[in-house]
Amino acid sequence: MSRPVIDLDGVSKVYGSGEAEVRALAGVHLRVERGDYVAIMGASGSGKSTMMNLIGCLDTATRGRYRLDGIDVASLAESQVAKIRNRKIGFVFQSFNLIARTPAIDNVALPMAYAKVRAAERNRRAAAALGLVGLADRMDHRPNELSGGQQQRVAIARAIVTEPILLLADEPTGALDSRSTHEVMALFDALNSRGRTLVIITHEEEVAAHAKRVVHMRDGSVISDVRQGALTGPPPLAAGAHLQLGAAS
Ligand code: ADP
Ligand code: MG
Repeated sequence: MSRPVIDLDGVSKVYGSGEAEVRALAGVHLRVERGDYVAIMGASGSGKSTMMNLIGCLDTATRGRYRLDGIDVASLAESQVAKIRNRKIGFVFQSFNLIARTPAIDNVALPMAYAKVRAAERNRRAAAALGLVGLADRMDHRPNELSGGQQQRVAIARAIVTEPILLLADEPTGALDSRSTHEVMALFDALNSRGRTLVIITHEEEVAAHAKRVVHMRDGSVISDVRQGALTGPPPLAAGAHLQLGAAS
């Protein structure tokens, strides 16, 4: 098998010190292969967001080793880490994290500004990504002119516009009604079926049911790891492959 996208090897995370010390992760081992679709579940405070922050190179481990697509990020300078994070990972959050009073297309184009893509190309790719998520007719709408489900689809377009190998989502449907949840999960399913690796934190069974693998956490440890869908050999992820997806309605 090719190298894993995620390889957490005995990773611990301790916040604070002395009396205030909190062990948020306690020696986690987790490997995620390319093309997998993983739901992370567990009670509030079990360490899910801490793990996602480490996987997403937003924070560093206290102990243990993490490799992202074979790269030991702890050994890199912060500027290098930022570059790798921008290139390899797309983030989706519960609260969408869109920039207010800014058109959808500019929100989606933003990650490419950091990646030094020319303006015309940024716009072309952002428009394509918005088309992919079914929002071709909402490009100039600002976040407050969109429903929650539409805002999350803009956020997903922003997450995939750089064609990252990994999508990380922390409670992506936590603020959505059931219809919007269904739309967003259909989009994640389609992205995974095209070979994109997905890790989604959720406390909703119906969301976890979409994944191929469910990991449960408790008190900073993985307590179960169950495969429920085949990890088939991922199709080759050709440049622009995600643009061939059927758009959500
Ligand atoms: P989850 O996402 O599963 O709810 P978290 O990863 O957010 O859990 O938190 C795990 C534990 O670490 C909790 O006890 C939480 O209070 C603690 N924690 C999280 N972030 C911090 C922080 N920045 N400083 C101190 N403690 C933290
Ligand atoms: Mg959390």
